[in-house]
Amino acid sequence: MKVTIEELEQSKDDLLEFDFEDTPEGIDFAEPAKAHFVVKRLGGGFINVKGYVDAKINAVCDNCLKNFVYEAHADVDETYAERTLYEEYKEETEIKDNFFAIDLNGAGEIDLTDLMYQSLILSVPNKLVCDINCIGDEEINKYIKTELQDPRLEVFKTIKTEKEN
Ligand SMILES: [Zn+2]
Repeated sequence: MKVTIEELEQSKDDLLEFDFEDTPEGIDFAEPAKAHFVVKRLGGGFINVKGYVDAKINAVCDNCLKNFVYEAHADVDETYAERTLYEEYKEETEIKDNFFAIDLNGAGEIDLTDLMYQSLILSVPNKLVCDINCIGDEEINKYIKTELQDPRLEVFKTIKTEKEN
């Protein structure tokens, strides 16, 4: 899904709303992700995209290694510069304090599917756990216990004992 600056120019109030489903490459979706984006021309050569993305992603629990479906939600608020801001190409430029704009570098369009992808990638935590109460896998726990019998890790046992007392 893409929106061109031309479409925006022809729209009422320089504003377009998008509700669409998509499956950007690089993410294993359990079902197509849903996006709601409001694309608005701000004037001065800037375009803002606000909205959210909801997705169900096939994941593996980092705790128990079971497959589960991770429900991702990403709030989106991104500003683009229609024209190149600097001679030297920079992907994202701070215009003034905490105001960043992504340089379209004269492309004339915004790739909303790519924005969907980037927003989801940023919203997914480093450690994915199937359930808040996941106690992990019995085999993995056994393995970790065995590892702690390694004399080099004796120091960790000491720490644990002190905590227990
Ligand atoms: Zn788990």
